[in-house]
Amino acid sequence: MIDKDIKHEVIIEDGKTTIAGQRAMLLSVKTIATQQKELERLVGEKWGEVVYEAERKAIQEAALQIFGLKQLDSFTKGKTFDKKRMVDTLVDIFNCAGYGVLKLKKFDEKKPYALVTMEKSTIPQEYEKRNSPVCFRVAGILAGGAEAVFMVPMKCKETKCMSMGDSHCEFEISRR
Ligand SMILES: [Zn+2]
Repeated sequence: MIDKDIKHEVIIEDGKTTIAGQRAMLLSVKTIATQQKELERLVGEKWGEVVYEAERKAIQEAALQIFGLKQLDSFTKGKTFDKKRMVDTLVDIFNCAGYGVLKLKKFDEKKPYALVTMEKSTIPQEYEKRNSPVCFRVAGILAGGAEAVFMVPMKCKETKCMSMGDSHCEFEISRR
């Protein structure tokens, strides 16, 4: 189900950048952090939802393409999917993208549920210490990826963030 030729690596050629076969653009961390801060200034605490939803939708679609699936409802019960392998694939791809080092700590395929940590988180390093997490972008990516793996609506909540003084970021992924 997962194409053996799947391109985990980042390819940059002829004005076109791809990550795992998906068109991508490289933005500086400063640009992303500045955009986030400006969005927060403009819309208040809802800024995180905007970033989260944009990533969730985009990554759900990209992950489905990576797995050769068209949309969530294309799931057919007759097929067998190695969910753990799908998750490992997405973690590998994610770890090429510069957000930090993602690690799967708990995985319950039946619930479905996952606990992941992210060390050396990039974006929190652009913030002063604060009382709320800043990795909504990553949470959205994880929710979208989880939806492609489990084929049901999923949500992701950041429970620890380096921006709050934690040693790493931590995310819980569960059914929506
Ligand atoms: Zn964080």
